[in-house]
Amino acid sequence: MSQKRVYLFGNGKAEGNAKMREELGGKGANLAEMNHIGVPVPPGFTITTDCCNEYYQVGQQKIMELLNDDVMAAVKHIENLMNCKFGDAQNPLLVSVRSGARASMPGMMDTILNLGLNDEVAEGMAKKTNNPHFVYDSYRRFVQMYGDVVLEMKPVNKTDIDPFEEIIEKVKKESGVVLDKDLSVEDLKKLVQLFKAAIKERTGKDFPNDPIEQLWGAICAVFRSWMNERAILYRKMEGIPDEWGTAVSVMAMVFGNMGDTSATGVCFSRDAANGENLFNGEYLVNAQGEDVVAGIRTPQQITKIGSQRWAERAGISEEERVAKYPSMEEAMPEIYAELNGIQDKLEHHYHDMQDMEFTVQEGKLWFLQTRNGKRTGAAMVKIAIDLLHEGMIDEKTAIQRCEPQKLDELLHPVFDKKALSAAKVIAQGLPASPGAACGQIVFHADDAKEWHENGHKVVLVRIETSPEDLAGMAAAEGILTARGGMTSHAAVVARGMGKCCVSGVGALNVSYKDKTVEIDGVTYKEGDFISLNGTTGQVYAGEVPTKAAELSGDFKELMDLCDKYTKLQVRTNADTPHDAQVARAFGAKGIGLTRTEHMFFEDQKIVAMREMILADSVAGREKALAKLLPYQKADFKGILEAMDGLPVNIRLLDPPLHEFVPHDLAGQQTMAKEMGVSLEEIQRRVDSLAENNPMLGHRGCRLGITFPEITAMQTKAILSAACELKKEGKNPMPEIMVPLIGTINELKQQKEVIQYAAKEVFAEYGIEVEFEIGTMIEIPRAALTADLIASEAQYFSFGTNDLTQMTFGYSRDDIASFLPVYLDKKILKVDPFQVLDQKGVGRLIKFAVNEGREVRPDLRCGICGEHGGEPSSVKFCAKIGMNYASCSPFRVPIARLAAAQAAVEE
Ligand code: ADP
Ligand code: MG
Ligand code: MG
Repeated sequence: MSQKRVYLFGNGKAEGNAKMREELGGKGANLAEMNHIGVPVPPGFTITTDCCNEYYQVGQQKIMELLNDDVMAAVKHIENLMNCKFGDAQNPLLVSVRSGARASMPGMMDTILNLGLNDEVAEGMAKKTNNPHFVYDSYRRFVQMYGDVVLEMKPVNKTDIDPFEEIIEKVKKESGVVLDKDLSVEDLKKLVQLFKAAIKERTGKDFPNDPIEQLWGAICAVFRSWMNERAILYRKMEGIPDEWGTAVSVMAMVFGNMGDTSATGVCFSRDAANGENLFNGEYLVNAQGEDVVAGIRTPQQITKIGSQRWAERAGISEEERVAKYPSMEEAMPEIYAELNGIQDKLEHHYHDMQDMEFTVQEGKLWFLQTRNGKRTGAAMVKIAIDLLHEGMIDEKTAIQRCEPQKLDELLHPVFDKKALSAAKVIAQGLPASPGAACGQIVFHADDAKEWHENGHKVVLVRIETSPEDLAGMAAAEGILTARGGMTSHAAVVARGMGKCCVSGVGALNVSYKDKTVEIDGVTYKEGDFISLNGTTGQVYAGEVPTKAAELSGDFKELMDLCDKYTKLQVRTNADTPHDAQVARAFGAKGIGLTRTEHMFFEDQKIVAMREMILADSVAGREKALAKLLPYQKADFKGILEAMDGLPVNIRLLDPPLHEFVPHDLAGQQTMAKEMGVSLEEIQRRVDSLAENNPMLGHRGCRLGITFPEITAMQTKAILSAACELKKEGKNPMPEIMVPLIGTINELKQQKEVIQYAAKEVFAEYGIEVEFEIGTMIEIPRAALTADLIASEAQYFSFGTNDLTQMTFGYSRDDIASFLPVYLDKKILKVDPFQVLDQKGVGRLIKFAVNEGREVRPDLRCGICGEHGGEPSSVKFCAKIGMNYASCSPFRVPIARLAAAQAAVEE
């Protein structure tokens, strides 16, 4: 029963360490670790994540009883090390109460600073420090944060103004002050009293004077913040389990707001946007906590080179920069040297890029946080490869450092250079998150979501963003803000999402009320188009066209590394030569699925196809099919040629025939004219194709069995194309796949048709081409009788879309009415059509692979369908020994990385 709930740290010692993320959260674990390696950290303690879960089980009163002795002893521990006393009027200790989960969730939960202040303590502290301005500045910040977080003083709706901000504006006006920092001590004191009164008025609660009561209030509020709306949404997006809970770290305050020798900042050991190996960051003199991130004042650069680059972009001369905007390296050289030393030490200790928070109190540097930094896809690849070259990590680690899904960003379009040179730059901001974005302006997160849902591409334009804007940011193509630096909320979150962002564009005059933004005298309204370049920070009027991304050498190196370790090959799903070429350039080792039906829809082909459907005799069908044959042959030839020397798996006709006929009157009239038959005849035929349950109806091999001439025609088209290519000296490798097999006899029958047609083709061309006949495993019965099927099939391709549909019994086309509810009620964790259900569908697949190989040891097994490009599904396929996964061209690199990770994990 003696469960350890509280872990102490301070003065170079700690009860926890970096490995204890689960118990202490990332922040708590790293605060402990920094103590072990000699980084200066204010003393404190961490309450475990388990206590957060306990809080939800036993409630506030009981958890306070359970924690009381440990927390009181831990406060003593801080008092002893800091040589001051919590709640003491002469020599007070102030603390921060910070949230921190196992996975980093920046800004999603709450933190309270300057806790322990009340009127008496503030007066005593003002005397002791001889700096009343600092004390009352801290005090008003504390009352405001405590009101927001613990006493829940929230704006009632989105148009409601923050009551605290309203009070600040009023006091500033009365005193004729423009900037917060120019408020007098009297103003600040007034703010404290007005804040307290506003809290009482809105919430009916008194602001607690007793520091111990304040402490418990804050600890429990941090527990509660685990379940706030934005934290829940963030977890959903990032796939973080609700059960993890947040830890609470309480630590002695250090003050960056004590005057001009004090400062606070955020820094990165490498560039989080492009991965460049360059220490960088931002800081503010005489400021506290969130000031840098909140984008209220525009912060200064930490390094000289960073400052010079910033000035160059902003068009500021070197003289002006040195005079007005010096870097920390220039303004505080000794502190900078220490900071630089520690960031390097931390990166070497963690073997990864670090994102750090620090505060300077009257010339003394303190670290408050370090974590592995969030980064863009491009930075992720560059940093992994650079760290490998620097000898900091090995090859396997480099592979695991990259998140497959994030490669997506690298493959996305950038602005077309030519179009860009013609486009008009209307403003310059910070290149907060790279890429290109173009869309219609919206000003509110809710609007961004709504417009996006209605099919619009939008750019979210804000003065600054806050965590409430998360869903809107996710819905937008890009984000543009007037305030805030490279480490502002907008910048950090956008980079995490791989979304283009330009921040800190001072020239923007945003009016939320009018839904307009004015730039240099020109007004842009909601709905107007705007384009952003997150790589340069430039903003363009109108729509600027984009083009495909160019891939870096580091990307190629990573992919080569993947090939060195992977066992599972990656093919692509492609129906056109162009898609096949794109996929080949991304490293696809063949085609895993060519769907022939798409080819039937182009102009002349659809006419012949409909003729075939309309025919009511074998002879009539054969006549129509003879017209289709040359089209199909040309299509297959193009694809086989694009994949020369690599296997191409072609699926015979699969969808129900009604998909090829028009269902509207106008369409049917046209069809009647084209076919030269009456409208009634067309309608009679269309009606006769209607089925109660088309997904389980006349489709797949059932078509080929009832109309063998279709299978024969497609086989001839495939193999004629192959023969012609072979005669041209190429190396075509066709595979013919029979879809929707449920019984062995279906496959046997289709094989006979295929083999007969093949003989005819080879006789005609006077040569033979090697080809294979396989089947799709997509009906549960096929999986369950895999041993029988394997006796006839040379390969299995798992069609997991249908297999999921039929294993769950969910119609994929009708799922929208209940899937969201299932996800919401946690009946399902994820959509099984996106992420392979390993427990059910996966078990069936594994069974079929093993049974099939009992009969045919060299049975090749692959997966096609949506799951073939989804990292966790690809890893599963690799683990059960499949030979390949097949996915859409742009997902090929993602699948290659996931496959290599699966091999490395083994
Ligand atoms: P988040 O997880 O949102 O970053 P943090 O707990 O890191 O929240 O705290 C918010 C800000 O307050 C950070 O800038 C941090 O550096 C600062 N801060 C937290 N604790 C202290 C402290 N004891 N002294 C000074 N600043 C602090
Ligand atoms: Mg932080
Ligand atoms: Mg299917």
